[in-house]
Amino acid sequence: MSNDKKEILIVEDEVRISRFLQLELEHENYACTVCGDGRDALGLALDRDFDLIILDVMLPSLNGIEVLRRLRQTKQTPVIILTARDQVVDKVTGLDIGANDYMTKPFAIEELLARIRLHTKLKTTVGASELRCGKLAVNSEARVATYDGHAVDLTKKEFDLLEYLMQNRNIVVGREKLLDAVWGFDFYGSTNVVDVYVRYLRSKIDDVYGVNIIETVRGSGYVIR
Ligand code: CA
Repeated sequence: MSNDKKEILIVEDEVRISRFLQLELEHENYACTVCGDGRDALGLALDRDFDLIILDVMLPSLNGIEVLRRLRQTKQTPVIILTARDQVVDKVTGLDIGANDYMTKPFAIEELLARIRLHTKLKTTVGASELRCGKLAVNSEARVATYDGHAVDLTKKEFDLLEYLMQNRNIVVGREKLLDAVWGFDFYGSTNVVDVYVRYLRSKIDDVYGVNIIETVRGSGYVIR
């Protein structure tokens, strides 16, 4: 049944800690890969599909925050960051750029194990239907959008448009394509309707939270990064 084991990447350069984590996690029947270097860890995380990554912040060659930032450009693998007691800024930055959780060192192993169980379970149950971009989350199953945990009240078309842009994150989507995807091929309106609905979305998210979620790419379309 070894194929059913959840795979965890432990990124920590202090061998004393990584060895301890490995022993504890293997005892709980997780398969572990250990890496003590930021750049190598990023390569591993991009190449393989881990169920979860435990990521220390202070690392050689590339720090944990940078590893996470680059990972989140393409992958949503659950990440728990490890910070030292006095690294409040790292904790906040980590959560802002998409860490799922954090632990402050020194930590109780039972608490870390509980958080690992939570986040590996979340991945298999809602992970497929939840899209995230910073503080913006779109749950396709529940058809709910939230910003920083606050529900964003959207009409059906507004939700469909936001969901499509989130699904195509980092890709500039043209108005024709958005029209086809959200309104359907047989829609007889003009592409201006897309601009109108982007304005609606901005008034409900960007204007409320003072952010710029949906970017206009002149002459091309729209993108969420
Ligand atoms: Ca370290």
